[in-house]
Amino acid sequence: MSIRQLPDTLINQIAAGEVVERPASVVKELVENALDAGAKRIDIDLEEGGVRLIRIRDDGGGIASDELPLAVSRHATSKIASIDDLEAVATLGFRGEALPSVASVSRFRLASRRRDAEHGAELRIDGGKLGEVAPNAHPHGTTVEVRDLFFNVPARRKFLRAERTELSHIEEWLRTLALARPDVEIRVSHNGKPSRRWKGEGNLLSDVRLHEALGEEFARNALRVDHAGAGMRLHGWIAQPAYNRASADQQYLYVNGRSVRDRNVAHAVRQAYSDVLFHGRHPAYVLFLELDPRGVDVNVHPAKHEVRFRESRLVHDFVYRTLHAALAETRAGSIAAPTP
Ligand code: ADP
Ligand code: MG
Repeated sequence: MSIRQLPDTLINQIAAGEVVERPASVVKELVENALDAGAKRIDIDLEEGGVRLIRIRDDGGGIASDELPLAVSRHATSKIASIDDLEAVATLGFRGEALPSVASVSRFRLASRRRDAEHGAELRIDGGKLGEVAPNAHPHGTTVEVRDLFFNVPARRKFLRAERTELSHIEEWLRTLALARPDVEIRVSHNGKPSRRWKGEGNLLSDVRLHEALGEEFARNALRVDHAGAGMRLHGWIAQPAYNRASADQQYLYVNGRSVRDRNVAHAVRQAYSDVLFHGRHPAYVLFLELDPRGVDVNVHPAKHEVRFRESRLVHDFVYRTLHAALAETRAGSIAAPTP
């Protein structure tokens, strides 16, 4: 076969293979876009575990009508313009890939109105085939509608699981996002019925949201951590050793507000708990690590699940010491307490 340039739709479908694994990944990307747009309220309607429909409406800044086609073009983004911007990126998105990818594997509709615009507009895309921009009486903000995910990619569709499984993956992502953004109200409905509501609670993660996300047991056993040093800050909650898990299912780590998996940090946490947890048991935590964005590379993974620290040893030590000290304090407290 001779070499040929692939058509855009196929390029986007290939990219979608990395970014869009299942309905939950679509929800993650769209909610992140809403958050990047400054939304304070996000409404999510789902049908059939998100496979039939994902509709996400936000009250963020919106997209100009004449930029709708750009928003769904590959490598088009309003979030960075140079390599310097990339190195200091503060938004959740920056690759300009999510919308074109999702639009290439679904029946897609994007409707929006900027805060300063008199009218709204919408754009439909069917399996990557771009329609025309049409007027739409949209309120300020943006709605993205994704129907029939993978309808044109049978190989992918086959890997979708039962409605309940897909829904629980979505809920897990929403929990992850809701823990990081207690200032944003998120309402979810599934098959026409309200299924979840995260009330906007102000800037600090309240006990209520913590309790709702991780359960009463966790909240009752949670130790507040907040420590700064070495140009970093680590804050959040860690569970006292008495509350531990059979799997690593309640470990939430955010680096500069982005949920990530990081072996280095996970190892530091494990080490901090090593004298106080039984072998094979896992600690539970919600931890926010903040550092100069230039000290961390977020452009490592297409779905942005991983980061790379410039000084990973320093990060490891900082996390270990902070948590070790916090745990030692409670132990000291419990030893000092008189036994009845
Ligand atoms: P990225 O988030 O990496 O920039 P996306 O493909 O997710 O790439 O989105 C492309 C662009 O479309 C964004 O940079 C942004 O300008 C715009 N956009 C997408 N979703 C929204 C939204 N909910 N509100 C406002 N603008 C949006
Ligand atoms: Mg995005």
